[in-house]
Amino acid sequence: MTKVQALGYLGLRVKSLEDWEVFATEILGLAASRQGDAVVLRMDERAHRITLRAGDDELDYVGWQVAGPDALGEVAAALEAAGVPYRDDAGLAELRGVRRLLSCTDPAGYRLEFHYGPTMLQEPFVSPTGARFVTTTKDGADTGLGHVVVLCDNVDETTEFYRRVLGFAVSDHIIPVPGLLLTFLHTNPRHHSLAVAPIYGDGSPGINHFMVEVDDLDVVGRALDKVHQRKIRQLATFGRHTNDKMLSFYVQSPSGFGVEYGANGLLIDDETWSVVTYDASSYWGHVFDPA
Ligand code: FE
Repeated sequence: MTKVQALGYLGLRVKSLEDWEVFATEILGLAASRQGDAVVLRMDERAHRITLRAGDDELDYVGWQVAGPDALGEVAAALEAAGVPYRDDAGLAELRGVRRLLSCTDPAGYRLEFHYGPTMLQEPFVSPTGARFVTTTKDGADTGLGHVVVLCDNVDETTEFYRRVLGFAVSDHIIPVPGLLLTFLHTNPRHHSLAVAPIYGDGSPGINHFMVEVDDLDVVGRALDKVHQRKIRQLATFGRHTNDKMLSFYVQSPSGFGVEYGANGLLIDDETWSVVTYDASSYWGHVFDPA
């Protein structure tokens, strides 16, 4: 079984790079730099965590990190065995600052970039808000930049692709309202790096939200103060999730989709873990759309 290691980076297409730069630095506490036509956001030693380019407010690509060349070879073999076409793109690897990169499209239509050897910068990451982002466990296991939640109209097929082809494991499910099944998947100790949800209500395919985690609840609280002060729309109030125990709030990004900002997320030990189904997303809070 192949094993993707972590959510290495995300690419977003956004209508306003300027609004995003302010949001990412002043609310989320990420460090921004302009690189050509892109705004590149850092949260740790990595040169590329979230890259913003001009476009139509959508998820551009999801960068899944593997351990090294052998693991990337295993991903290639698994994609071939599953009949999934992929590209080995040296030019794109150069652009993303990784040693080698394979790109494909998942069954839901999202562009994936499997890679190893991301660039680590000598210059220290300095958060504009003093945030420290959680991207490893205390033992040093890589837990990636956070998680991403995507909506798709073929949830079963998409989930099976991540499970059977890429080696993700189901963490648990939530049925927040009857008939709506959310599936959470992990690939390292972080409770989930990916969740897939069916399209519900008048929704359309796309990214629902991505999550970044900080190591201090006060940083979450201060970010929430700023969201209130600037009258930025919250998509869900402060609350605690049932499954990953995250204390977080959801804010509307300048692109419309959500960003979850939280602390105290649960780590999974595969030795003792079993899949359960929760009947609610949260123990308290996370009240949807308080605006
Ligand atoms: Fe989330």
